[in-house]
Amino acid sequence: MTSLLSSLHRPQIISKLRDEPYDLIIIGGGITGAGIALDASSRGMKVALVEKNDFASGTSSRSTKLVHGGLRYLKQFEISLVREVGRERATVHKLAPHLVTAEKMLLPITEDGTFGKFSTSIGLMVYDVLAGVEKADQRKMLSKEETLELEPLLNQETVEGSGLYAEYRTDDARLTIEIIKTASKYGATSLNYCEVQDFLYNENGKVEGVKCIDNITKNDFNINGKVVVSAAGPWVDNLREINNSMNEKHLFLSKGVHIVVSHEKFPLIHSVYFDAHDSRMIFAIPRGKITYIGTTDTPYKGNINHIVTNLEDVDYLLEATNIAFPKLSLEEADVISSWAGVRPLIFEDGKDASEISRKDEIFESPNGLLSIAGGKLTGYRKMAEKIVNLTADKLKQDHQLSFKECFTEQIHFSGGPFKDESEVNEFRGKIAERIIIYGLNKYYALYLVANYGKQTEQILDIFLKLDENDVEVRIALAELRFCVHNELTFSILDFFMRRTGRLYFDIKSINKLIEPILEAFKSYFNWTSEKVNAEKMELEKAIFEASNFEYSKHINNE
Ligand SMILES: Cc1cc2nc3c(=O)[nH]c(=O)nc-3n(C[C@H](O)[C@H](O)[C@H](O)COP(=O)(O)OP(=O)(O)OC[C@H]3O[C@@H](n4cnc5c(N)ncnc54)[C@H](O)[C@@H]3O)c2cc1C
Repeated sequence: MTSLLSSLHRPQIISKLRDEPYDLIIIGGGITGAGIALDASSRGMKVALVEKNDFASGTSSRSTKLVHGGLRYLKQFEISLVREVGRERATVHKLAPHLVTAEKMLLPITEDGTFGKFSTSIGLMVYDVLAGVEKADQRKMLSKEETLELEPLLNQETVEGSGLYAEYRTDDARLTIEIIKTASKYGATSLNYCEVQDFLYNENGKVEGVKCIDNITKNDFNINGKVVVSAAGPWVDNLREINNSMNEKHLFLSKGVHIVVSHEKFPLIHSVYFDAHDSRMIFAIPRGKITYIGTTDTPYKGNINHIVTNLEDVDYLLEATNIAFPKLSLEEADVISSWAGVRPLIFEDGKDASEISRKDEIFESPNGLLSIAGGKLTGYRKMAEKIVNLTADKLKQDHQLSFKECFTEQIHFSGGPFKDESEVNEFRGKIAERIIIYGLNKYYALYLVANYGKQTEQILDIFLKLDENDVEVRIALAELRFCVHNELTFSILDFFMRRTGRLYFDIKSINKLIEPILEAFKSYFNWTSEKVNAEKMELEKAIFEASNFEYSKHINNE
């Protein structure tokens, strides 16, 4: 049987997209498109999803990687947004506790800070109530001594105490990919490197499909569908232009950057949400071998297909961090990696980047195209439910088709199911015992289970069959084989950025993996030596751009 997610079955997937009629075509393989694909396919709709680059290559691999309620939106009185995404945190955690893990966040209180002692206490209490946080996880207020004991790197001169509250952490790209894989179990057909270039219209001028180009072979083909939804994130307006349906509503793009330093340089124990020098707030989050810091929030008018971190972004984040954590004295040279993305926000007259609401919105074109933008990673499931409800109404009205109600709050993602976090811990413990015998250290148990959940077993089975002496190379080769067969992985960046996160969280490990991974790609796809060189250069460029910032000025001005 053809696996709909094997990279080796690409021609068969394209034939299926070309030859079969669909109820719903989704443009965009970020978290929004992935969530819609799962919701619609699980209700019984016949679904196609196409992504012009790799899945999650847009904003959905560039976020702070928190499944959070957005405490700061409380300050802007966005009560319904905080309630909705706050409650979603627990749901998404329940669906994939290996991938969405509980993370206590420390909110230091300083004399000139955003929140005083009283407002922090009240604010966090309201946050807990709105988000329905269970008693054991509700906020705790800590004294100065308790705060510094928990996080000794904080500024002893300025910290007056803190609030400790509950959030969740994830890997946005893996979350997106696992949701796409889960949708495939319900019959959704998804394809990356497949770009929508135009729309198909019926005799009444209504949208009834898309014209695509396969970005790997450069062949074009059409897909027919009764409803087309654009979940193209920052590209939503580009598609509305192609569809001749732009109106006064439009996107406002705000750039956000995160920088990565080694955990030795910034040995943070807890995630901290702290004040920057310009009264914005920033996260510092420890994660395995590194700590990452972000984010910035600045209007963006550059090239959305190539967004890079520049020196101003890095200087701003370093200055804020060095003030809040004065023992560090971090410098530009300490930044080993970074990522930059843009938030596809809905423009609001007279508001600047950080004031604009993170609410999502659906635009319906007169010719039937539905577009959805705004929102947050955390709220993807609710966004999907809204637009799939609308799709179901259209399918009922125009085609007399009926579908089930949304039940995605019960669908565990591939990589599970796990009953709860304690079952994940138990599984991780068993994996750790097993891999130590093979010569892999405890870090790999953390990494593999967070990335792949129970699919770690399949990767270890492959690992045992491979003929390679260096165990770190061997595990990467096993991961690659798994990703090629199960996750539509076509390029070296798909692998190092979005399937494994190594470019961000373990950049130093890449060097010795480049050649063996390229060699393996070559054998899977019969790459020519030109293609191998081109892929190697792509990776080198990505590493350079993630860790060198001076040159980027002119790129952002393109
Ligand atoms: C710096 C930053 C930090 C953030 N932090 C958080 C956070 O911690 N928690 C949280 O909940 N949210 C966070 N967000 C918000 C969250 O990341 C976004 O709301 C979410 O990722 C948007 O997903 P999307 O699927 O709508 O867009 P995208 O991920 O950009 O997906 C759209 C996709 O459409 C594809 N596409 C475009 N045009 C075409 C075409 N013609 N044909 C086919 N495909 C096409 C693109 O290639 C892209 O992959 C953050 C955002 C930023 C920028």
